[in-house]
Amino acid sequence: MPEGDTIFRTARTLQRALAGQPVTRFESVLPKLERVDYDTPIAGRIVEKVESQGKWLLIHFSGDLILLTHMLMSGSWHIYRPGERWQRHRTHMRVVIETPAILAVAFNVPVAEFHTAHSLARREGFNRLGPAPLAADFDAATAIANLASRPDLELGLALLNQQLIAGLGNVFKSEVAFACGLNPFRLVGTLSRNDLENLIATARKFLQANVTESSGDKIVTFMPHRRTTGRADAEENLWVYGRAGQPCRRCATPIRSAKHRADGRISFWCPTCQP
Ligand SMILES: [Zn+2]
Repeated sequence: MPEGDTIFRTARTLQRALAGQPVTRFESVLPKLERVDYDTPIAGRIVEKVESQGKWLLIHFSGDLILLTHMLMSGSWHIYRPGERWQRHRTHMRVVIETPAILAVAFNVPVAEFHTAHSLARREGFNRLGPAPLAADFDAATAIANLASRPDLELGLALLNQQLIAGLGNVFKSEVAFACGLNPFRLVGTLSRNDLENLIATARKFLQANVTESSGDKIVTFMPHRRTTGRADAEENLWVYGRAGQPCRRCATPIRSAKHRADGRISFWCPTCQP
């Protein structure tokens, strides 16, 4: 599932390709989007800005129209030159935004909606997002206070709650808890102020490290000392996520995994480093 870093990189790429450009063609197979395009055509508008907020992606068009998308498990945006062969089959296409120079194509985005600034501000699930660590104006104090306001939640679930802090998914939440030495099944109420500050700072550090210009499309939180293959091997880039049964990179204790009872999502942890 794409996490906040992936959406941030996608927004940055689309911003560079689309911002300031006139839309020459809009196409969608989603009836609600087609209807808006029919009533108030997208072609002829200018793409003003593309940005991410947590795991949401927003494309702002002139004339107070915003395309809000969420990738959930399988969605993605691609950029192509006119005539270039698409990397996914046309049956997966949901939205095409064409400018004189490029086509931006959304494949399999499960959530795609047009909004005005007014309707977006009232859109449930979006209007109460917590602070996003990748935002330029990230408000760490509010994120810490948000976590502290839910002492009843297990840490692994609190970090996924987009109203408390926006942008973390399954991978980052396990990696952040490990880096802070905190068991993901501890209740937030048992954590110290210092723990909470450390969690938020680590979440920001990990997300930022994955949106540098040279970062690939894979989440990396662990850098092995020696790279012999030169490949970013999937087995070699994370501390605990997806590594159940394998030795902890710090203490060699086998990594464990278990589901949170409240929602069945899995956390990975080292029982020695995260007692
Ligand atoms: Zn360990």
